[in-house]
Amino acid sequence: MPHRTRSKRRRYGYAHQVARKNWTRLLPLPCTVCGREVTAAMRWDLDHNDAGTGYLGPAHRGCNRSKGARKGNRMRGKRAKRREPLRRLEL
Ligand SMILES: [Zn+2]
Repeated sequence: MPHRTRSKRRRYGYAHQVARKNWTRLLPLPCTVCGREVTAAMRWDLDHNDAGTGYLGPAHRGCNRSKGARKGNRMRGKRAKRREPLRRLEL
């Protein structure tokens, strides 16, 4: 029986809730994705770094989701637009 889908909701635990509350008090702040203002009245997500060790700040919900989608696309296929000539300079 597919009861396990419910557990997805618990992915963010108590610590995350507290962190979010603390960030709420600091609003308005610039969105970590688009740089425009995030206010408490908006729907926003608390953006965290890729390593999952800390928080970057608030991001508009739409921004945060599209960022995640981009990341998913990058991992899904290497055929997605390759216009990164700068990479070669790093080698
Ligand atoms: Zn934004």
